[in-house]
Amino acid sequence: MKAARLEAIGRFSVREVEKPLPGPDDLLVRVEAAGICGTDRHLFHGEFPCRPPVTLGHEFSGIVEAIGDAVLQIRPGMRITGDPNISCGRCAQCRRGRVNLCENLQAIGIHRDGGFAEYVLVPQRQAHELPLSLPPEHGAFCEPLACCLHGIDIADIRPGSTVVVLGGGVIGMLTVQLARLAGATSVVLVTRQAARRKLAEEIGATHSFDPGAGDVIAGVAGRNGLVPGGADVVIECAGVAETMTQAPKLARNGGTVVILGVMPQGKKVEIEPFDLLFREIRILTSFLNPHVHGRAAALIASGTIKVDPLISRRIGFEGLPDAVANPPRPGEVKVLVMPGLT
Ligand code: NAP
Ligand code: ZN
Repeated sequence: MKAARLEAIGRFSVREVEKPLPGPDDLLVRVEAAGICGTDRHLFHGEFPCRPPVTLGHEFSGIVEAIGDAVLQIRPGMRITGDPNISCGRCAQCRRGRVNLCENLQAIGIHRDGGFAEYVLVPQRQAHELPLSLPPEHGAFCEPLACCLHGIDIADIRPGSTVVVLGGGVIGMLTVQLARLAGATSVVLVTRQAARRKLAEEIGATHSFDPGAGDVIAGVAGRNGLVPGGADVVIECAGVAETMTQAPKLARNGGTVVILGVMPQGKKVEIEPFDLLFREIRILTSFLNPHVHGRAAALIASGTIKVDPLISRRIGFEGLPDAVANPPRPGEVKVLVMPGLT
């Protein structure tokens, strides 16, 4: 079968590899669509630990072609989305239920072969069924949506809440929609590209703000800003120093900041503890997708979350090395790999 493999840091190739054989607990899944994520680019550049050679692709869905002897609920012919993060179930964190903090976490598409291939192996407990009637591309959004859902779960958004989302990539776009779904009546997306601000307003943001157009703190949380006095919840989805520093300043007194964005390891940002303390700002972090992939699948299956407008390009395996080695094109939100496309 064909697979797009990270052969070594900075070296990616598309080539024939052995089609994998399912073990007793595995599903052999024919990949229909897989999303390219910023993490794939970090892996390519050696900015995130992994062990090449490995087939990348941790956001994927497809049709079950064969199953191992011990597989119970899933049958060949079903469409599934795979939760790529495999926890060990034995370590102290797993036994506390904190599976995203598992000491032996293994991810499909990072530590073991992933979805940038014609077929991928998925352990049965990582699989969630999707309807066959769904457009095949939609399943690839379950994984990023699950990460956003974890952030939303811990954010404590109530009906009528005000929310600011920083960063209009796919994570920001999904978070905007989830914030509305959680009951926020005011959702402001702050992102630099005009096309993304327009798109966000089409899919659920009540307002957007261009950080190039003026002071973000004054324009969003100032007396005459979009959310005067600051938001109940600020969700950082950009992963850059500027937005990390802005996030607490955009929260109202007693408000909550949730950090989803990933900054390079070792990089620091300035905070003002006095301000955080006297305004009792809660700062929370949201890592991966513990126990939420099934709900993400339900949100995708039901069409509750709009993903079609987030698909910028569909490519075949041949386009992958270029897409992974380079930053996203202007305006691009999500690029999908679909086996069979050229
Ligand atoms: P992305 O496509 O890079 O989106 C982030 C966007 O933030 C950028 O495209 C950029 O859009 C915007 N941005 C950059 N600087 C900004 C600024 N100063 N002010 C406002 N917006 C700014 O990435 P993504 O896939 O959506 O992911 C977002 C972040 O979440 C990344 O750091 C990713 O690693 C992380 N992530 C975390 C988890 C988790 O489990 N916590 C899971 C998945 C991803 P403009 O050009 O429009 O400004
Ligand atoms: Zn564990």
